[in-house]
Amino acid sequence: MEAERLVQQVYEAGVVGAGGAGFPTHVKLKAKGIDTYLINGAECEPLLTVDQHLMCEEAPRLVAAGLAVAAALGGARLVFGLKKKYAPQIAALRACGAEVVEVGNSYPAGDEVILIHEILGRHVPEAGLPLQVGVVVNNPETLYNIAGAMDGLPVTHTFVTVGGAVPRPGVWRVPIGAPASLLLDAAGGSIVKDPVFIEGGPMTGKYRFDTNFNVTKTTKGLLVVPRTSALVHYETMPVEQMLKQAKVACCSCVQCTVTCSRNLVGHGLEPHRIMRAIAFASQALPEIVKQAFLCSECNLCSGLVACPMGLSPRRVNQVLKGSLRAQGIKPDFPKRDITPHPQRAFRLVPSKRLVQRLGLASYDRETPYMGDLPVGNTPLAIPTKQHTGVPAVPCVTPGEAVQEGQILGAPPEGALGATIHASLSGTVLAVSPEAVTIQPER
Ligand code: SF4
Ligand code: SF4
Repeated sequence: MEAERLVQQVYEAGVVGAGGAGFPTHVKLKAKGIDTYLINGAECEPLLTVDQHLMCEEAPRLVAAGLAVAAALGGARLVFGLKKKYAPQIAALRACGAEVVEVGNSYPAGDEVILIHEILGRHVPEAGLPLQVGVVVNNPETLYNIAGAMDGLPVTHTFVTVGGAVPRPGVWRVPIGAPASLLLDAAGGSIVKDPVFIEGGPMTGKYRFDTNFNVTKTTKGLLVVPRTSALVHYETMPVEQMLKQAKVACCSCVQCTVTCSRNLVGHGLEPHRIMRAIAFASQALPEIVKQAFLCSECNLCSGLVACPMGLSPRRVNQVLKGSLRAQGIKPDFPKRDITPHPQRAFRLVPSKRLVQRLGLASYDRETPYMGDLPVGNTPLAIPTKQHTGVPAVPCVTPGEAVQEGQILGAPPEGALGATIHASLSGTVLAVSPEAVTIQPER
């Protein structure tokens, strides 16, 4: 396929990375000098199974689209990277002629810097991008949406795993903008009295005390956990309290650095030194604090896994990154050779052990595909910003009838962003700079 046409189709369909920050996919596909198109099928966050479902059920579509994208990238090699334990998915993809490379069952195998190291033996520079080592990475749901774009179908729905403390865990296809409460209802509600809701996975997701949020293109999971979980304690502690604890309790044991996934892959990130810098702020060296930019926020360093004092270097790094950016400091690091730690293979955290450490083993169950989430006549609030870049500018007005897939807004000419579309047919109820709300037709 001609590269320019593919980029245009993907832009018009509003495809963004399905998960993470939602980087607009058409921009990634403009990359030059690419020799490998890597599909990140490692899906390493505990309890999330959307990509596993798609790789089984949609393997022919994924492989066909992957080959078309690889060709448009200039004849790149298409490789699917999956954990060894995803045997049915590996078989389904190989049956369609795809090259599949297996990686170990450790966390965070799905960090693209780590996956590129595992599969291609290449080292993404510190604070760098995969394209600097000739690789474009997409996950299976993003590739599924690219396949749709090639057929003229915009991104109107996303797939979401609902799991944890619910009676009927599963994967639903959900119209963008649907309230998360409908997903919870579909899974039978919470079976714990005082639930907390995780949007995404337990290691990197957003912890919320209610379901007052709407599904976006990047929503991959809704997990219900009891408020008494250790997870909830770490992830919801107020920032001030967390920083105070970091200052007084760190004993410089180095366990966070020993476990740090980015340190093990060779990046110059030593969270224990950042923690020490926080404790002795007046003597903090700027180059140590700047290491926070190298943190992928995988969460292995926290008391959930590594820190014996129950601290969270990851959350400290989040705060530092915000503060450095606010000061105009950029994540630029001098180019240097990256050498993975010689002990890396022995320090990896197996996924099974992680699930046990998190106290989630009893929730590690089958999540069958449940089909389309019924929304009835519940209004859908479709955010104008579900992606990296600027919000889409709405182009519809209240009272207007819209068809499923119709454009509701687009980024200003030349700006980084993504178009948004009506996820179902209906009537526009409200338009604001933050969202377009649609009343679905009965
Ligand atoms: S969250 Fe912790 S373990 Fe993960 S990359 Fe950041 S510092 Fe390292
Ligand atoms: S593991 Fe915890 S106590 Fe040890 S150095 Fe890291 S933050 Fe400090």
